[in-house]
Amino acid sequence: MIESLKNISPSDFDKLFITEEACLEFLAAEKWKEGYVCRKCGHTNYCEGSTPYSRRCTRCKHNESATAHTVFHKCHLPIKEAIRLAWLVCSQPGISSYELSRQFNIRQMTCWRLKRKVEECMHTVGSATLNPRVREKKD
Ligand SMILES: [Zn+2]
Repeated sequence: MIESLKNISPSDFDKLFITEEACLEFLAAEKWKEGYVCRKCGHTNYCEGSTPYSRRCTRCKHNESATAHTVFHKCHLPIKEAIRLAWLVCSQPGISSYELSRQFNIRQMTCWRLKRKVEECMHTVGSATLNPRVREKKD
């Protein structure tokens, strides 16, 4: 998901993520791009869940939102802001949480937490695809 986000240009970003629904659609598409598998029972059939772009297992009825178990899991920011913040972190790796805090007018601690999650995700993806033997430990 982070990899796909990183490759989006600023002009495309503004076109892609106009509404909250568009953000969730992107997240759902990325999250389940290898197919849907229920986290509770492993079933692969689903129907529409209780919230937009969430999926509900047709066997155990477990509902999973598009943001659950992603970097946006339990993120209290509006998804549009959260996704923009994540995108900025990917496309401008040097950006500080203070700078993000100023730009978004949200608490620095909130920016810092999300930034860290995105960075962790970037490092995991990077080390897994580039060279699995070299695993940098970053905190
Ligand atoms: Zn299930």
